[in-house]
Parts: sequence; structure tokens; C-alpha cells
Amino acid sequence: MADGVDSRMYDFGAGKSAIRTVFEQTCELRQQGVHDFWDFSIGNPDVPAPPEVDDAIREVLAELDPIDVHGYPPNNGWLTTRQAVAANLNRRFGARARASEIAMTGGCAGAITATIAAVTSAGEDVIVPVPYFAEYRMYIQAWNCRCVEVPTLPRTFQLDLDAIERAIGPTTRMVIVNTPNNPTGAIYTDESLRELGALLRRKSRELGQTIYLLSDEPYREIVYDGRQSSWVADHYENTIVCYSWSKSLSLAGERVGYVWVPSTVRHARRVYDAILGAQRVVNSICNGLFCRVIERCVDLPAPVAAYERKRDALYAGLTRIGYDVVHPDGAFYLWVRALERDDDAFQERAANEERLFVVGSEDFAARGYFRLSYCVSDDAIEKSLPAFERLFRSYGGYQWQADEPMLPRLRCAS
Ligand code: PLP
Repeated sequence: MADGVDSRMYDFGAGKSAIRTVFEQTCELRQQGVHDFWDFSIGNPDVPAPPEVDDAIREVLAELDPIDVHGYPPNNGWLTTRQAVAANLNRRFGARARASEIAMTGGCAGAITATIAAVTSAGEDVIVPVPYFAEYRMYIQAWNCRCVEVPTLPRTFQLDLDAIERAIGPTTRMVIVNTPNNPTGAIYTDESLRELGALLRRKSRELGQTIYLLSDEPYREIVYDGRQSSWVADHYENTIVCYSWSKSLSLAGERVGYVWVPSTVRHARRVYDAILGAQRVVNSICNGLFCRVIERCVDLPAPVAAYERKRDALYAGLTRIGYDVVHPDGAFYLWVRALERDDDAFQERAANEERLFVVGSEDFAARGYFRLSYCVSDDAIEKSLPAFERLFRSYGGYQWQADEPMLPRLRCAS
């Protein structure tokens, strides 16, 4: 019966994702006063924000006029904040960014949603390599576009350029890449990004339409073993960069990020203004106080050593037990082959038998894997390993072939 409720929005709100299901289970346990469980479900950083952030909050409150802290900021954020961000990008990446090309946003999610809204029209396609951050699906479908899922290469989870080429057609408007990647921890190689740039340039020419590349970079600084993350915008002129300090400075709850539209982007000014329009519609404006704080903290380093220590401990512990784990080069997730092919059943059994809360691969549009978010305490990592070991033994090891490739669910959701 028609009740006036928009069914798409209803599905986004009421739909049970694996992350949401697991999250609700852990909330319920906490409410019951139960604490002997292991929550690897959500990417909410356990490493505290650097003390300089608290100092900056105090400075901002002491030094600025209250209206310049708590009042409405301009829709694209304070000029001085955007200048600080541009200077940071120019110093680190030789980006030639200008403050006028940057818009401050409510986190990376706000930047992505506004960008998709700004450059797509209903019925167009946005291509996403699988596995991917589940929310993309919703950000794309909200604007009546199709989320076109393409596989990545087996085992390495690097970009499969042939698959991307096959997926591009007359209705393609955008490709999203996320490196370092949630959930695999893969860092896309410079070579593959260069090839992707060449492919998108060629296809844009052939089809007579601009294909934008959205580079989603909240884990940009969280890279290990002395590696450098690639600077995606170097490889394709129509790249739009989305970033936040949710992960790099542990400020997930403060909703502070930005979108950068380089001058090389086709119709850059129109794209930028359309992003501001979308910002007004979804009201994903940056938190004013935290714009001021970021101005003072933009050059602080991410706590890479802490995450590298956690990665090493969990990766070593799980592989010693016998789990088949993808070795992550960045971000703070482990992508692990589930002990049975049905990862939903595995997720449930891990929670029921050992109170290990992990996320099956459906949310990431994949199959046969689960994700562990290791932005948790070192103690939780160490103390959970016996539970992982008991679970492995109770299954009797892997119940499906190690050499089966990961099968994307490939729903090509619309
Ligand atoms: N993109 C990816 C790949 C993420 O993993 C997340 C959050 O987990 C986001 C975007 C959203 O980031 P934010 O919290 O800054 O909106």
C-alpha cells in the first residue's frame, strides 16, 4: 500500500547490511554489560587523535571571535582553511592546488556524495572495482545512477583494466578508485593508475563524453613498509579528489574533509559550483570549528607506526593459525578468506561460537571473504587470537579450495 515513504530511502535506512547487523549485536552486548567479545567490525579508529588537535581546539576558542568559530562558515569552508589544505597538497604532491578549487565537506562521505550528485545524471553508470566500501552503492543509487561492479585481479586485488574497459559504455560517467583500499589494504600501483588514466582518456574521446575519476583517499597516509601512496591525480586530468581526516587523525566523528577539483578537470569551474550546489542540497557542510582546527593541524602525520604494529601482530597471528590473509600495504583492514565459502554463515558462526565480530564480504559485493577492522587496541588483537584459533580448529581448517578465485557477487545493482 502506498504510504508516501520513498522506498529507495526506506531501503537505505532499514536495509540490514552485514556491518549494521554486527554493529547492532555488539551494541546489544555492551548494553547487557557483556564485554568479553572481540569487535573487529567497524573502521572507527581506536588510536586517539594527536594531542595537538585538543591544543588547537583550545587555541581556536581562545583566539577567535565566537561567530568565526560557531557561526555559519561559507558553504565551501573558511578561506584560510582551504588555503592551508592547498598548501599541504602543493608541498607534498606538487599538486598546484588553489584554495578556490577546494571545498570543505562533512567528511569523505560528504565529498563523495556531493561529487557524484554534481557530475552524474539519472540513468548514468558509475564503475566501482570489487570489493569496495559498501556505502558507494547508496551514494550512487541515491542519484538514480547505476552502480556497475567490476572485478579486481585475483589475489592481489589490483585494478583489472580489461574488466574496467569492458564495463565502459555510452552511459558511463564516472569510475571510483580507493587506494589504499578498504577492505583489501591494496595500494594501486602507479603503473596501473597510469594505464587507467590512459584508458579513461581514450574512452572519453571515443565516446565523446567526459568520464570522471573519483579518487577516494581517506587512508592516503596510512601506508606501510616505507611505501608511498600513489598520487592518483597525477595520472588523469579529470580526477576529483575526496579526502577526510576521519582516519589519518582519528576524527571520524567530527565530519571534516574536502573535495578538490583540479583546474585540469573538464569544465572545472562548473563542476566545482555543482558540487557546492549538491552540498547545499544534502547539507554536508564542514563543521566550522573543525575547519579552524584543521587549519592548524593539516600537516600532522598519521599514526602509521601504531597501525603497522597492529597489522603485523594480527597478520602474523592469523597466518600462523592457518588463515589465508591478504597482506595489506595500507589502510587498517585485513581481508581474510572465510573458512567456509558462505561468508554469511561464517560471520554468524564466528559471533555465536567465539564472540568474534567480523564482517562477511557481501557488504563489499564479494564472496568467500571476511573483513577485520584492526583499528582496535593491541590488547584486543593479542587476546582474540586464541578465539580465532579455536574457530579454525572447530571448522577443521578450510572447507573450500584455496585456489578458487574470489567470486564477485556482481549484481550490477541499479
Ligand atoms: N571511503 C572509504 C573507503 C571509507 O572506508 C570511509 C569510511 O570508512 C569513507 C569513505 C567515509 O569516510 P568519512 O567518515 O570521512 O565520511
